Amino acid sequence: MSLRPVYGHEELRRRLLESASAGRLPQSLLFTGPEGAGKQRLALWLGSSLLCTADAVERPCGRCRSCHLADDLQHPDIHWFFPVQSPKGSLTPEKRREKLEEARLEVLASRRDNPLQSVEPDRSTALYLPVVEEIRSRASRRPAMSSGTVFVIGDAERMVPQASSPEAANAFLKLLEEPPPDTVFVLTSSRPGLLLPTIWSRVLSVRVTPVDTNTTARFLEQETGLAPARAQEVAHRSGGRIGAALRLAEATEDPREPATRFVQAAIANRPSERWAQSAAFAPAGARGGFSDMLDMVEAVLRDCITIAVDSGSSAVDPDLVDRLSELRTIDPKRWISAVSHVDQARDAALGNGNPQVIAAVLLSRLARELRPVGSDRPERLRPARVSGAS
Ligand SMILES: [Zn+2]
Repeated sequence: MSLRPVYGHEELRRRLLESASAGRLPQSLLFTGPEGAGKQRLALWLGSSLLCTADAVERPCGRCRSCHLADDLQHPDIHWFFPVQSPKGSLTPEKRREKLEEARLEVLASRRDNPLQSVEPDRSTALYLPVVEEIRSRASRRPAMSSGTVFVIGDAERMVPQASSPEAANAFLKLLEEPPPDTVFVLTSSRPGLLLPTIWSRVLSVRVTPVDTNTTARFLEQETGLAPARAQEVAHRSGGRIGAALRLAEATEDPREPATRFVQAAIANRPSERWAQSAAFAPAGARGGFSDMLDMVEAVLRDCITIAVDSGSSAVDPDLVDRLSELRTIDPKRWISAVSHVDQARDAALGNGNPQVIAAVLLSRLARELRPVGSDRPERLRPARVSGAS
C-alpha cells in the first residue's frame, strides 16, 4: 500500500511548485489550518515534489524511484516526525531516544500498511527533546540519494518546552533559521497559537484550508469505496477536512452529536440543562476525549457562523440549521467570540483542569455570548469596540 494521492489544494500546490522552481521557496515553512485538513499530507507531497527526479513541470511524477519511495513512506531523505507517546519507566537518555524512535517507526509502519486509517488526535503524545535531537542529528548528514533533504514535523505545537535544556532548543531554532543547504523544514500545526513564539519568527506561515465538499466526497468514493450518498453526507459533516472525513466514515455514531447538544444547551440557557451537560463529563482526564469534544464544539460553532452569514450555504450539514433554529437571531459576531471561549476552555483542558468545571464555565460563557439579538443584556457585557477596525 502507498500514500493516496492529494485531492484538492490545487492553487496552493501550484504556488508552492512555482516558488520551488523559481528557487524562492523558503527553507522553513509552517503549514497551518484546521485539524484533518491535510497539512501533513501536503507537506509530504511537497517533499516528493522537491526530490522527484522528473522534469520540473510534472513533479511529483509518481513514477521515478524517489517518488515511489516517498509514496511508500520509505524515502531516506524525507524525514517525517510527529508527536508520540513518552516511553514508560526511567531510562537513560540514549534508551529514551531509541524508544521514541521505535514508537515513530511503528506509527510509520502502520501508516504504510493502511494509509487510509483515520488518526485520532492523541493529546498524550508530544515531540520530546530526544526527538528534536534526532532531527538535528539527521539534518547534519548529507542526503542519502537525493539532491536535498526534507523534514516534515507534524503538530509542531506539541514540541515540549525545553527549559531544562535551553541549548538544545536554541540549536533547533538555529536550524530553522539557517537550515543546512538543500534542506527544507515543513512544520504543521492546527493550533499555531501554541507554538513556541521563537519558532514563529523563523518560519514562513502557509495557510492550508479545507477542500470543498465535492472533492472530499470524491476522495471518499474513489479511495475508500464509500457509496456516493454516504460519501456526500460524510463530506458535508467533515467541512472539507479529508482527515476528519476518514474518521467520520468509520464512526458509527456521529461524534458531532454530543457537541451539537452542548451548543443547544448553551443557547437554550436553562441552568438545569447546563448543569446536566457539565455533570455528564468525568471529573478528570481533560486531555483525552473531553478535548476532542471541545474540538467538535468549535466545529459546530464554526458551522453556525457559516449558517449565520449565509443560511443557504451548502458547506454545512442542513440538519444543523434545523436543530439550531434560534441561530438566525444571534449576531454573527457573537459566534466568533464564542469560538474564542472554546479556545480558552481547550487551554484549560491542556492544563488538565477538571472537565466538569471547564464545561460549566464554558457553557455559562456561551450562554451569555449567544443570547438572541434584542434580548436584555447589561451594557457592560457588550464587546469592547475595537478602535480603528473599520
Ligand atoms: Zn518523481
